[in-house]
Amino acid sequence: MPQPLPLAALHASHAGTWLRDANGNTRGLSKGEAIMAAADTPALMLNAPLVATRLGYPDLSGLDLLELFAFVFPARFCVPTPKGLADALELDEPTSDDTVPALLQLAAGKILEHCESEEWAERDGAWSSLQSLTKMRWPWAQILAPHIRRPERAEKWLFAKLPEWEETPERPQPAQISIPDDTIEAQLDHLTGDGAERRQGQRDYAKAAGKVFEPRDKRDMPHVLLAQAGTGIGKTLGYLAPASLWSNAARGTVWVSTFTKNLQRQLRSESRRAWPEQRPDGSRPVVVRKGRENYLCLLNLEDAMQGGFGGRPAILAQLVARWASFSRDGDMIGGDLPGWLGTLFRKRGISALTDQRGECVYAGCPHYRKCFIERSARASAQADLVIANHALVMVNAARGRDHAQRPSRIIFDEGHHVMQAADSTFAAALTGQETIELRRWIIGPERKNKGRRRGLAARLADVASYDEAGGEAVEAAIKAAQTLPSDGWLQRLNDNEPWGPVESLLAAVRSLTYARDESGGQEAGYGIETEAAQLPGNFVELAGQAESALAAIRHPLIKLGVRLESIIEDAPDWLDGQGRARIEGARHSLSWRVDLLAAWESLLNRMGGPSDPEFVDWLSVERSEAREFDIGVHRRWLDPMKPFAKVVLEPSHGVMLTSATLRDGEDWESAVAASGAPYIEVQPQLSSAESPFDYASRAEVLIVTDIKRGDLPALAGGYARMIEAAGGGVLGLFTAIKRLRAVHGRIADRLARGGLPLFAQHVDPIDTGTLVDIFRDDPRASLLGTDALRDGVDVPGESLRCVVMEGVPWPKPSILHRARRAAGGGSAYDDRMIRARLAQAFGRLIRSKDDKGHFVVLSAAFPSRLLSAFPPGTPVIRLTLDEALQRVSEGVSGKARQPENPGITLDEDSIPF
Ligand code: SF4
Repeated sequence: MPQPLPLAALHASHAGTWLRDANGNTRGLSKGEAIMAAADTPALMLNAPLVATRLGYPDLSGLDLLELFAFVFPARFCVPTPKGLADALELDEPTSDDTVPALLQLAAGKILEHCESEEWAERDGAWSSLQSLTKMRWPWAQILAPHIRRPERAEKWLFAKLPEWEETPERPQPAQISIPDDTIEAQLDHLTGDGAERRQGQRDYAKAAGKVFEPRDKRDMPHVLLAQAGTGIGKTLGYLAPASLWSNAARGTVWVSTFTKNLQRQLRSESRRAWPEQRPDGSRPVVVRKGRENYLCLLNLEDAMQGGFGGRPAILAQLVARWASFSRDGDMIGGDLPGWLGTLFRKRGISALTDQRGECVYAGCPHYRKCFIERSARASAQADLVIANHALVMVNAARGRDHAQRPSRIIFDEGHHVMQAADSTFAAALTGQETIELRRWIIGPERKNKGRRRGLAARLADVASYDEAGGEAVEAAIKAAQTLPSDGWLQRLNDNEPWGPVESLLAAVRSLTYARDESGGQEAGYGIETEAAQLPGNFVELAGQAESALAAIRHPLIKLGVRLESIIEDAPDWLDGQGRARIEGARHSLSWRVDLLAAWESLLNRMGGPSDPEFVDWLSVERSEAREFDIGVHRRWLDPMKPFAKVVLEPSHGVMLTSATLRDGEDWESAVAASGAPYIEVQPQLSSAESPFDYASRAEVLIVTDIKRGDLPALAGGYARMIEAAGGGVLGLFTAIKRLRAVHGRIADRLARGGLPLFAQHVDPIDTGTLVDIFRDDPRASLLGTDALRDGVDVPGESLRCVVMEGVPWPKPSILHRARRAAGGGSAYDDRMIRARLAQAFGRLIRSKDDKGHFVVLSAAFPSRLLSAFPPGTPVIRLTLDEALQRVSEGVSGKARQPENPGITLDEDSIPF
């Protein structure tokens, strides 16, 4: 049994606050007393920002067990709750809030004891890191020091320790093969394992998926398959069966693209059935590939550790360096870096350590050969299976660095999100934030102490001195970029003193938006917008001036691109392989910026002219709680699947879109239109496999009829009583953050006192992924959230027994939505969208055949035409709150039943469907 660490320990929940002193006496105390006690002597606590929020005292600091955990066990998973910590350390779980402080003392003792043991797997580098942390006055440093012995030999520092990636030859093009159906079935049997029940739906699905790997007959005419796959048919193994056969026989790469990280995790684990972890040569056949902004940039980390970060962020950099030595792949967002680590440090430290702004200097970087991003790009070129996300697949197709690396066989799982991803990928936004980024990329930082963030001139100094025309182009671009917005632009707009043509345009955008917005957002503090129509003459004139200013930046950048190309073609003696790669990298980033500028110019060019029916343009002021944070002009495709079809579908050989909610009811027409295939005149193949789950007996939809719209106390009461009736395990979904916060504020304390912890997105200082981990880990916990939780939560089993929606998820009536609604059939368009949202939300409830539960809507205004969103056979019942509570507290029996109470009415369209 470990010895508890004899230091005071503090725990605060919505139910109260407890302090245990060094002698082992625990007492409850008021928030004020707790704050005083923590200020006196630093106390042990778990998740200090969360404790601070509970106490209402943001400046609280102490000895956070999570920081200690991150140092001693880097790259290990831990749910950041008392129960999660106890499980991770194999200690007894606390039985009540007042036993938590004792657990914290014991956990600290156990972790320190572990540092002395020979079993400590992550010892390497700890002593050196601790020396740096001691200088930074990290509160744990003094406590840890006696427990970590000095190594006999000097420890290598991270940048020397990481392995280098190998350069590999390009993969030859894949063989053209077809896979017979019986081979696919045999592979499926192999993947599902001996003795697994044969599911016909899954077999048909796998065979249909095999068709996208057939050789293509005509150029620009890929095989496209739309596959509706009801929850539980086993779709991942269904498509991995033909994908693994094809990649093996054809020696090609299959990309599987997902929208959520959960599915990426699931795919990573299921792919092990088809591929080994490593090939005999040590390379990996399955690679997870994400956008560059997800990975740690070693150069940024080095800058941060050498003075770029100060105070608390510098401590974060040290903990990230500890993690980087043990990380599987350097993925900071959703990889093996604990999601909670960034939020412990409150500032945006994590994003500053990634390559957010495309500032990578490629081969000019001293860590290029060890870079996680470069390693992942190379690994994916050789992989059989690349697991990526929709945004990355589209960006790669649109502006991938290397043609050979562009995906040609793609399976878009969670296919109902492809349109949303295409919408953002092919959007143009000329805003203050975007233009200031471009200015920094060209000119470099204008304030000191920004580490390596250097402008174009510094990055291409050798080219400029070698090639006169190239040097002149760099200078011209820098001069022209001075006209872009710079630091302090928002304040200048506020003071009515814009500087330069783009800031002047943004000032006009701001004043016109305030003059015309009628959304009600002005009073509510939300963002506001107005369509880009009927623009006054002076606005059009300012748009013209801004357009010329942007063109003046683009022209020298094009010239510079041409010069770089000719330097590569006619390489001077001094240009070695590394220099060449650096210039290639610069060319790539240049062409991306040139395209960006061209898109902005074309957006401005249309201001005041006739509208282009393919696009929707509007002006906006982005605000949060009435505070402005960005202003600009936006352009979206009316149908983003048009550019998707050209950029992603047309060059591919085979593409599959699959989801449980691809189709609206039995209607394939809208799914085909939404796939983009008609734009390239391809007739998609269609397949459908129904869910094997018995929804009629495992789930009930309850529509509560006696909570009035707009009655916040009644809504909050409804949520609280529903959570009590279910005994926790409730996922509460909202369409407005404001209402979510208001409901949470009214009910969290009451529930906590009853032993029912409540967590909430937009309230608790915890990232969404970690909130879901906490929810999954504790069957008595409930979670409130908005959109991201509607289909990002995969919690099978007891932890999720009930989904409660505040009402019908109507789309936000934005300018973009209005245009698409008009083009998509008016209310029928809205209905399709809402049904899809309801189906996704319902899909959270039943994840496996043993799951059961209730789907509750706390609003009577629920039109029957939307009920087809739920799987056929699911009972839908309209009833009062009391009746609904009764049913929820009884649980779903697992047997189909009829309403026993005459006050309860089955929806007229609901049974049977
Ligand atoms: S190569 Fe680029 S992304 Fe990688 S560490 Fe260097 S600067 Fe960062």
